[in-house]
Formats: sequence, C-alpha cells, structure tokens
Amino acid sequence: MAEFTMELNDEQKEVRDWLHGFAADVIRPAAAEWDEREETPWPVIQEAAKVGIYSLDFYAQQYFDPTGLGIPMAMEELFWGDAGIALSIVGTGLAAVGVLANGTEEQIGTWIPQMYGDATDVKVAAFCSSEPDAGSDVASMRTRAVYDEANDEWVINGTKTWATNGGIANVHVVVASVDPELGSKGHASFIVPPGTRGLAQGQKFKKHGIRASHTAEVVLDDVRVPGSCLLGGKEKLDERLARAREKAKAAGGVGVPPAGGWGSVKNAAMATFEASRPAVGAMAVGTARAAYEVALEYARTREQFGRPIIDNQGVAFQLADMRTQIDAARLLVWRASWMAISGKRFTAAEGSMSKLFASETAKKVTAQAIQILGGNGYTREYPVERMHRDAAIYTIFEGTSEIQRLVIARTLSGMPIR
Ligand SMILES: Cc1cc2nc3c(=O)[nH]c(=O)nc-3n(C[C@H](O)[C@H](O)[C@H](O)COP(=O)(O)OP(=O)(O)OC[C@H]3O[C@@H](n4cnc5c(N)ncnc54)[C@H](O)[C@@H]3O)c2cc1C
Repeated sequence: MAEFTMELNDEQKEVRDWLHGFAADVIRPAAAEWDEREETPWPVIQEAAKVGIYSLDFYAQQYFDPTGLGIPMAMEELFWGDAGIALSIVGTGLAAVGVLANGTEEQIGTWIPQMYGDATDVKVAAFCSSEPDAGSDVASMRTRAVYDEANDEWVINGTKTWATNGGIANVHVVVASVDPELGSKGHASFIVPPGTRGLAQGQKFKKHGIRASHTAEVVLDDVRVPGSCLLGGKEKLDERLARAREKAKAAGGVGVPPAGGWGSVKNAAMATFEASRPAVGAMAVGTARAAYEVALEYARTREQFGRPIIDNQGVAFQLADMRTQIDAARLLVWRASWMAISGKRFTAAEGSMSKLFASETAKKVTAQAIQILGGNGYTREYPVERMHRDAAIYTIFEGTSEIQRLVIARTLSGMPIR
C-alpha cells in the first residue's frame, strides 16, 4: 500500500504538465464556442483521442495509480480547462467503470473498446441510472428487465433521464430492476449494444452550465438484449439475489435492524457512488482553481482609485479565502482517493465529505470570482460567468450536497437518518 503523500512524483508531474498543456492549448480556447453551441465537441474529443487522453488505457493507468492521485490530478487539470468539454471527454469513463466493476473479462474486452472507438472514429458511452421518479432515491427505480428464458434474452422497459451522452452513445449501460421487492438490491446492469431496436433518445436538455456535455432522456421500449449483456452474468446475479432474499428474510422485514446495525446497510442511493465521488470533487477543484486564477490576475491588474483593486483588504481577503478553500478541498479529495485505492474503509464517509466540500467550494469561489471582476465578471467576455454556471452541477450530480450530508451523518451516527 502506498503511503499517503501530498506531493506528486516525477512521472505524475510529467502527466499533469502534459494534461495542463492540452487543457490550456486545446480545451480552454474552445470552451466559449461549445458552451454557446450546446453541442458535443466531437473535434476536441477527437484531438484528445489522437494524443491518448481519450482512451481506456489512459483512464486505467490513472485509475490504478497506487498513490490514488492519478484520477484526481487528471480531473483537476481537464476541468481547469473547461467543465463542459472535459465532461464530454471523461463521461464515457462512467459507463466504462460500470463495466470494469461488474463485468466479466469477456464483457470488458468486448464492450469497452466499442465505447471509445478510435482516433479516426471516436465513440462515446452513456451510463443510465437516474429516472424521472428515481433521482436521489435510486431504490425506487421503475425500469424493469425481465428474463426471456426461451430466447436467452433480457427485455428492458422504462425511461431513463439525465443520461450524459444518452442517445448519442455507441454503447449504453442501463441499470434496471430485476426484482422490485428487493429495492436497490434487486438492480442489475445491462449493456445495450449499438443499434439495438427500442432504445431512443428522448428530450435533450438545455442546461444552465456544462452545456458542451450532452444530457438527455433515454427511452427503452421492449429493448431486447442477449443474455450475455447482463453484466457479471446470470449465475452471479442469481446468487446475489438469493443472498439478498435470504438476508431480507433473516432481518424479519422492514424496520428491523440487521446484525451489523443500521450503519452496515448499504443503500444504493447513498452508497453506490461513494468511491467515485472524490473524482467529482476533483472536477470541482479544477473549476474553482480556474476561476480563482482569473480573479487573482484581474485583481492585480485592474486599477480603481489609483491602485490595483487587490490593494483593498476586502478584495485580497476574498482571494485568500478562495485559495484556502480550494487547497482544503484538494486535500480532502486526495485523502479520499488514497483511501479508496488503498482499500481503507470510509468510516466517516470521507468520499462524500470530499465531494460535498469541493463542490460547495466551487460554487462559492466562482461566485466570488464574478464579484471580483465586477461588470466584466458578469459578461461572457470573461470566463468566470461560464465557470459559475458550470460549478452548479457539482452539488447536484453523483449525489446532491444534501445526500452527501445524509451519507456522512448516517455513517457517523450509525442510524437510519431520513
Ligand atoms: C447535467 C447532469 C448530468 C447527469 N448525468 C447523469 C448520468 O450520466 N447518469 C445518471 O444516471 N444520472 C445522471 N444525472 C442525474 C443526477 O445524478 C441526479 O440529478 C441527482 O442524483 C439528483 O436527482 P434528482 O435530479 O432527481 O433530484 P431529487 O432527488 O428530486 O432531489 C431534489 C432536491 O431534493 C433534495 N433531496 C432529495 N432527497 C432528500 C433527502 N432525503 N434529504 C434531503 N434532501 C433531499 C435533493 O438534495 C435536491 O436538492 C445527471 C444530472 C445532471 C443534471
């Protein structure tokens, strides 16, 4: 297990500088245009694929970095460039991680390459879990997958919403209920291969921020996928369902605490993304740092009353607070990422803590940056207005701030806080 470190090693610094160069030279200059167009920035994704940033290899290398700092470092740099474009580049990773975490070796080898395509023909993938009536409350998911034994096929029906890359993806990973009585324990994930009949894009959302990232509904109408598209396979699913039914029976029904106490209960809405949350925290740190840097430079050069505005404590102290909070957010993110890769249990929901603090920091810091830029900050001539709109997503997706607080409070107390 790697020791926790706050310093990147030489190899990591090299990767960081390379990513920073891409973010500064390719992503940042394209940010305003794709924000206005509200379209997937395919040419930028293609550039990222050409240099090796848009690929499973790159993602896996960072993911398995034993220090845990590979992913947060990469996310911070790309999102420093621009959040909407960066999400278009890393969004496929969400679906890929779903397959890596639950799929068999054969499924990983078959589907992940199809998620990325190659530099001459880039593809994207979508991870579809949220539904119109199942956002924070994932357990109330209505999308159903029913096994058709005669044909060895799964038949999926339902409506997914908020899917990043939904409908434009080559491969969709869809979470569906196979046993509604078991709540989130009765969920399973399925690959929906390219061109499958019955899957269609619904409404494409016009958003407040991260507008270069495509977000849409995905409608599944009698979608039939081969048995081999159930991630992990049928045998494993049957075993898991049998265990869940056994546990439910042993607990004696709803409201009875299980053997390990309420703290041991894993609710999908609250715990599923615990390990991936530090990565979202790192995205928020990237956006916050970007806005802070613009504000710092502006405060040093903008003169009013015959001196730079940073000469006023009212401005300088804001910048001091912004930088302090960004550094604190990064430390929480790095700690949680190191804990996750080292197999340490999040006994105080440290993953949620990092996402909560970093996302709230990004919202606050980007608002302060607008204030420091005055009228200019409020216009699209300067990037902080876009960064502030972008930052609002971090307190919503992968679990809202309220849900993070719920997870933290529940973990600390061991009680079913509602
Ligand atoms: C741009 C974007 C991209 C997304 N990408 C994806 C994706 O790729 N795949 C995917 O599956 N999903 C995705 N999501 C969905 C996202 O994860 C959900 O929006 C999020 O989980 C919140 O769900 P909701 O929007 O239904 O809000 P709700 O769950 O309806 O929450 C509404 C409000 O109520 C609060 N609230 C709810 N329950 C509680 C409680 N128990 N205690 C206190 N407060 C509570 C919430 O914090 C929030 O403030 C995306 C969303 C957006 C906006």
